[in-house]
Amino acid sequence: MRVCDDLDFGIAREWLAENPGRKACGYLPVYAPKEVILASGLLPVGIHGGGDRLEIIRGDAFYQSYICHLPRSVIELAQTGRLDFLSALLFPSTCDVIRNLSGMWKVMYPDVVVRYLDLPQVTGTETGGLFWEGEMRGLLRDLGAVSGRPAGEDDIRQAIRLCNSLRSMVRELYRVRRERPWAVPTEELYSLLRAAEVVPVETFLDKARAYLAAAEEQPGARKDKSRVIVAGAFCEQPPLGLIKTIERAGCYIVDDDFLLGNRFLMSDVPTDGDPVRQLTNALLHDTVRSPVLFEASQDGKRRLMKERVEAARADGIIFAAASFCDPALLDRPMLRAGAEADAIPCIAFQFSENTGQFQQFREQAGTFADSIKLWGDNE
Ligand code: SF4
Repeated sequence: MRVCDDLDFGIAREWLAENPGRKACGYLPVYAPKEVILASGLLPVGIHGGGDRLEIIRGDAFYQSYICHLPRSVIELAQTGRLDFLSALLFPSTCDVIRNLSGMWKVMYPDVVVRYLDLPQVTGTETGGLFWEGEMRGLLRDLGAVSGRPAGEDDIRQAIRLCNSLRSMVRELYRVRRERPWAVPTEELYSLLRAAEVVPVETFLDKARAYLAAAEEQPGARKDKSRVIVAGAFCEQPPLGLIKTIERAGCYIVDDDFLLGNRFLMSDVPTDGDPVRQLTNALLHDTVRSPVLFEASQDGKRRLMKERVEAARADGIIFAAASFCDPALLDRPMLRAGAEADAIPCIAFQFSENTGQFQQFREQAGTFADSIKLWGDNE
């Protein structure tokens, strides 16, 4: 079984068996400071739901029908014992659903250390900065108690260096895909990055280097496809079948929001000075723009998709949000209006992580790709 398909988190369990006394800390989407988890001596494990491989039996009882699918499958994973290897679990303030899930976790799993991470929505050093710095110092204290190895400044610097390598590798993978999407199909890139959420960072770096070398050696043949950005799937992830469907319908995906936490901080975090302050400054001033963080200027949102299209040299945008995803669906009208004002071709649909029928998406994406080729202003 491929690592990214393993709902029993076999690699993480193996790591724990091979490292007696060590523990694992999970995190929900979108952004949690992995550096803090690593510096505390814990294995970070991304929890992104059960996708289309998990039958929901108990999870539906916890949520109304008008709530997205991700929390149901996370509950299902827990209720079936698949998350019992986690000693701590972090719930970022991505939306109210995840916030509420953190409260439920505290009640249902009192032995797990649960922390809700309230990401600052203002970027002033004396406001959001002081707040987030305090949150991270508190998290370091709490996770240090879990591991029994409280992190010192050098541990945090070392973790920052490791995460800088991870971010740099993700940037490189995205760069190569942008340049030669036929050599790095998103189907493969996504599987690699999904696996990166559950394996030690060093393991991911080794696999990613090997993957890039193989893509260099055998780049495959360029096809006459339209270059598209898939926007809006930053939390609940689409099934791999949907990504394959979009690509096979005549699109090269050249930018996306999938697994956004792995590049939430856009540049390397400096390792000089106070490392917690450096992480704080990175979150205040160097994050990817997304519905997860407040942006006061609506004009900025209206311009965002044009900027992304230019950076990726895309021909069009597929707005693909999880059904009932408030942050994505609230931003979509502004993003789409801005894109259409700039005459960027767009289509939109909603998915669920367990969507099993792709015919409708195939037709929509195929028609979109054809229309760009027929009437678009592409080379
Ligand atoms: S998919 Fe959207 S609504 Fe659901 S948990 Fe994620 S951000 Fe919240």
